[in-house]
Amino acid sequence: MNNVKIEMNANKNNITFARGAISSFLVNLPLTINFLNEIKTVISEAVTNAIVHGYNSNENEKVFLEFDLNNDVLTIIVKDNGIGIENIEKAKEPLFSTKLQEDRAGLGFTIMEVFSDSMEVISELNKGTTIICKKKMIFVEDDE
Ligand code: ATP
Ligand code: MG
Repeated sequence: MNNVKIEMNANKNNITFARGAISSFLVNLPLTINFLNEIKTVISEAVTNAIVHGYNSNENEKVFLEFDLNNDVLTIIVKDNGIGIENIEKAKEPLFSTKLQEDRAGLGFTIMEVFSDSMEVISELNKGTTIICKKKMIFVEDDE
């Protein structure tokens, strides 16, 4: 069992930082490359959303990460105190985006859902958004 919490600015460089942080958190576990790539993609999408949508790229704001390991389940929580999501079901639909004009594809939630075993979205307008993704770990020896 292990748990870490990270508070970071809503700076786009911290998308790369978050990918590195989850890799480091898991470094002593013999996880498959595929598992690691998928979980890094999940965290990138969630942190990008917090920065770009939650905070409209205001670097002064804070994004909160939590990584939790319990038995063979990894939980990743990404939280912002930003603008919130008006309609969560709509937001989760593939190709739905409120920033299509800024070249967003509207695929972040779809990707997070595909690469997680479960994804929970909790959001309140003008309060913020929390994403909770769970993924059962896949070890190299299980995969052979
Ligand atoms: P892409 O991820 O493909 O670049 P996108 O970010 O618009 O495009 P999703 O990640 O699926 O697509 O998110 C869908 C929509 O949900 C966003 O356009 C935005 O309106 C809303 N949203 C997602 N995350 C947040 C957040 N943390 N705060 C506020 N709104 C959000
Ligand atoms: Mg997105």
